[in-house]
Amino acid sequence: MRFVLTELAGLDQVAQLPGFDEATPDVVAAILEEAAKFAATVMSPLNVVGDREGAKRLEDGTVRTPPGFKDAYRQFCDNGWNGLTKSTEYGGQGLPILLGTAVEEMWHASNLAFNLCAMLTQGAIESIELAGTSSLKDKFLPKMVAGAWSGTMNLTEPQAGSDLAAVRTKAIPQGDGTYKLQGQKIFITYGEQDYTENIIHLVLARTPDAPEGVKGISLFVVPKFLVNADGSLGARNDVLCTSIEHKLGIHASPTAVLVYGDHGGAVGYLVGEENHGLEYMFIMMNLARFSVGLEGVGIAERAYQRAVAYARDRVQGKVVGMDKGAKATPIIEHPDIRRMLMTMRANVEAMRAVAYVTAAAMDNASHHPDPAARKRHHAFVDFMIPIVKGCSTETAQQVASLGIQVHGGMGFIEETGAAQHYRDARIITIYEGTTGIQANDLIGRKTARDAGAVAKSVASEIEKVAKDLSNHADASLKVIGARLQEAVAAARSTVDWVVLSFGANTRAAHAGAVPYLELWGLVTGGWQLGRAALIAAKHLHDGTGDARFMKAKIQTARYYADCLLPHATSLARTITEGGDSVLAVAADQF
Ligand SMILES: Cc1cc2nc3c(=O)[nH]c(=O)nc-3n(C[C@H](O)[C@H](O)[C@H](O)COP(=O)(O)OP(=O)(O)OC[C@H]3O[C@@H](n4cnc5c(N)ncnc54)[C@H](O)[C@@H]3O)c2cc1C
Repeated sequence: MRFVLTELAGLDQVAQLPGFDEATPDVVAAILEEAAKFAATVMSPLNVVGDREGAKRLEDGTVRTPPGFKDAYRQFCDNGWNGLTKSTEYGGQGLPILLGTAVEEMWHASNLAFNLCAMLTQGAIESIELAGTSSLKDKFLPKMVAGAWSGTMNLTEPQAGSDLAAVRTKAIPQGDGTYKLQGQKIFITYGEQDYTENIIHLVLARTPDAPEGVKGISLFVVPKFLVNADGSLGARNDVLCTSIEHKLGIHASPTAVLVYGDHGGAVGYLVGEENHGLEYMFIMMNLARFSVGLEGVGIAERAYQRAVAYARDRVQGKVVGMDKGAKATPIIEHPDIRRMLMTMRANVEAMRAVAYVTAAAMDNASHHPDPAARKRHHAFVDFMIPIVKGCSTETAQQVASLGIQVHGGMGFIEETGAAQHYRDARIITIYEGTTGIQANDLIGRKTARDAGAVAKSVASEIEKVAKDLSNHADASLKVIGARLQEAVAAARSTVDWVVLSFGANTRAAHAGAVPYLELWGLVTGGWQLGRAALIAAKHLHDGTGDARFMKAKIQTARYYADCLLPHATSLARTITEGGDSVLAVAADQF
């Protein structure tokens, strides 16, 4: 993590940006150490408890979370983790998102279900901060930043999942600046819990004369308990949790059905202007989508660590092609186990690097003194969000599955823990917009809309790295460079195809959307591992850093180049030639 933060994502540069004076090397080192300690000693031991006990008991409208979770949440907030990257104006520490990203990865790896509460609160804070009035901010943000009140995100309704145009919850103006909300929201993460004294719901709803579709959606703050003028808690608002879902994974995270307005209407406060709700929600969703991508990195890292430990320990069979005598050996010596571990390792390192580099661009997009640089970083972040969300989460499925495979039969048995990672990981390709929705975003808004301009500028950056690798004296780096060049050429060719087809053959373009997303995930991963190899080679040449670690960076990049990057050319073929086959069989023939 430190290598990626400093060598690839440029933490030193980020820490120099105006407003990040507190992010000194000492502070950064202390925060990473303390986060690691908290994750390992408080959050991680509760992961299995949460899975076993779950948050499924609804008593008098309140959910009982698993033993130890409430206390861990209190410690989490008392230690200031909730406000790490939040504005100092409302009690946060104002530290870079890049640093928060490394810390958050540890939270996700140690206990994904626990961290979802804090993650959604962050998103809710962001929306209120960017679009709320000063009175909304003053009323809600200090308590939310401190973690005393949590935040939720209420988009989904039974008929409105991926398609938010179908949202039906009503918001009736009361003439005093407030609204009364009526409707039902489903699948609301931490929609009810016993960690905090108040829950601040951010709710999408329609005012009576709102236009049809997404242009008629507004965003409201609806607290579980109304807040008096002096900041104390007032009457219970008319929002009730009527049931809690039973799920495949993330058992400790309550998933609530919330009913608004069964007793006359839930009091809500408009965020920003009417009918602009989706824009504001997207502020929250972008951050949340990035965080869900990080969930993929964290959970995959944990699955990898567990698989390595098991593979060192489990003795089975004699190794082929090595002189180890007649004795059975640990399975880590089997070439196929190595293949699986290398696939896990290379993917995790690639996903982490891509996510952290995107986080650094977020900090630059908001804090860089030069407006042109801010704009450039912003465009890069917009392009990368669906890639980080879509690809890290899909890759995490593969990594968690390989984690089970390395364990053999014991992987399928719950006590090793490998199965929990697999089950927990399964939701991340679904919430915050499914992979299909991320892919639509990437081909439409992020590629076709600007005729591939940002995509091509990213390709140019990758080509520069491929060239530096190809020109390097080291034979291994040359190979990495050649493979990266082939892969980025494949990506470039598909950009042109997407731009042409998006209007002309829309259905075929959409049929290739997920492979297009995968292709970009693969190539941007290769880009960052290629950079890592160049940096590691320099350290080896200069005699700086840990030589074994640096060699492993090059070997991992080489594995990625030899065994994963070649898929780029076949993905390009699928994208540009597969659409008609995807659509050939009629709907009634399935
Ligand atoms: C555990 C859990 C927690 C959740 N937490 C929250 C939360 O806190 N707040 C909240 O508001 N929601 C939450 N959700 C809801 C989640 O965001 C939705 O389930 C998700 O967006 C998908 O919507 P859907 O379930 O209605 O599926 P659908 O939209 O019906 O999708 C079904 C399938 O069709 C595909 N599909 C749909 N439309 C398209 C399209 N245009 N192009 C291509 N493919 C398409 C999808 O990719 C998917 O494969 C949660 C869900 C779960 C299960």
